[in-house]
Amino acid sequence: MLDKKNFYINGEWVSPKKSNDFKVIDPSTEEECAVISLAGVDDVNDAVSAATKAFETWAFSTKEERLKYLEALYEVYKKRWNDMAKAISLEMGSPIDFSTQLQAGTGASHIKSYIKVLKEYTFEAKLGEHALNNNILHEPKGVCALITPWNWPMNQVCLKVIPAIAAGCTMVLKPSEIAPLSSIILAEMIDEIKLPKGVFNLINGDGAVAGNALTSHPDVNMVSFTGSTRAGALISQNAASDFKRISLELGGKGANIIFKDADAEAIERGALRCFRNSGQSCNAPTRMLVEKSIYADAVERVKNFANSMKVDVATKNGDHIGPVVSKTQFEKIQTLIQVGIDEGAKLVAGGTGKPDGLDKGYFVKPTAFADVNNQMQIARTEIFGPVLSIIPFETEEEAIAIANDTPYGLLNFIQTQDQEKANRVARKLRSGMVDINGAGLAPDAPFGGYKHSGIGREAGKLGLEEYLEVKVVSGWN
Ligand code: NAD
Repeated sequence: MLDKKNFYINGEWVSPKKSNDFKVIDPSTEEECAVISLAGVDDVNDAVSAATKAFETWAFSTKEERLKYLEALYEVYKKRWNDMAKAISLEMGSPIDFSTQLQAGTGASHIKSYIKVLKEYTFEAKLGEHALNNNILHEPKGVCALITPWNWPMNQVCLKVIPAIAAGCTMVLKPSEIAPLSSIILAEMIDEIKLPKGVFNLINGDGAVAGNALTSHPDVNMVSFTGSTRAGALISQNAASDFKRISLELGGKGANIIFKDADAEAIERGALRCFRNSGQSCNAPTRMLVEKSIYADAVERVKNFANSMKVDVATKNGDHIGPVVSKTQFEKIQTLIQVGIDEGAKLVAGGTGKPDGLDKGYFVKPTAFADVNNQMQIARTEIFGPVLSIIPFETEEEAIAIANDTPYGLLNFIQTQDQEKANRVARKLRSGMVDINGAGLAPDAPFGGYKHSGIGREAGKLGLEEYLEVKVVSGWN
């Protein structure tokens, strides 16, 4: 159980000005696993002042200094990797092996990847060869508000905190109040490497008070947010009044286009990718588009795959899926499964109610619907649970039209052994990312979406540049 000092401000662990306790619930057991304090406006102001003060010097830190801190952080992270994985399993329910390899693993891989990006990045360069001596300087943006959700907690936190440090920015991190434990461990690591006071600050709090105060604070220069489209829109409005830069990673409703010449594992690979992390991934392929001639076989295979998937508590080893994060999410998913049944989609696996033997905990059955029409609510709403919609198509053009007929545009998938067709379709999909035959994205590939899926990119060089301003100085000698 944590003590109440769960804010890290100006290099110190502090308690909130006014106590406001929040129970963190283990979704595998529905039991309280920690109590944190939620920040009020005064706590947010303290954190922003610390970041503002620290920026006066940190803004002029050298690339070599920042590299030294990131390298030290990577070493500490490796030592505490298992603590991190356990905290993630406890706070959001992902099974321990998945937490170790992927949840905690992606955090580590972002630190490693940004060390490389930073080493290679040139913050200062002459503009061509001419007499005006124009020099381009890439300078840190300033004080950043970093707001993250609960579904991939350390992945999302590291995609923001690490480039912000690399760029020379200072920051206030507000992770999801539902999953705060992993961020507290990250703050402990940052304390251990002795990053200068005030560069990194952590507050815990909810969206309505702490998130709102942070994103409307006049001294915050940039907001980087990952979460729902609803909160993203509110944050954009807050940021607009004084032109804060915004970077938004929002929802998705990815299509997985399966052509008749797809490889032998494409169907099961697609279903797994939808169900893993209990379907709580913005980039999950939740709409499986299948060419008519292989449609019946694909439905049968998805049904068998979903029925064979194990669901169990997060503490158990193995490749099962865990619970969803909260009672609210559980109820939302149950409602949407019922909506699917009511709107006439054919339930082929799963359904409402908990899996047998799992009465306690927010467990959802891996669920698949066939004969889904892309206008149905289950094909349009980001369900954020292990629910797959299977949609038939006849031609390449029709598949592209269905895939693009969504407000979102994050990650789409294509399965075919005809590389020319895959490349042609990839060009026509309106999304920030397209994966062909499960190739997978590199850790430094720009992550982000078109349309309602967001603004800006995370990871790699583009991810670093989100945190930089550009200054031209003429007459530089
Ligand atoms: P949310 O967007 O409400 O919360 C995410 C983060 O934003 C949390 O830290 C929260 O405290 C903060 N926040 C909420 N409202 C805010 C505001 N007005 N100002 C500033 N910060 C604010 O997400 P949720 O309620 O946890 O989940 C709801 C739905 O959002 C899910 O069902 C899912 O569809 C979607 N979601 C998407 C992602 C993603 O990665 N795209 C992640 C989590 C949730």
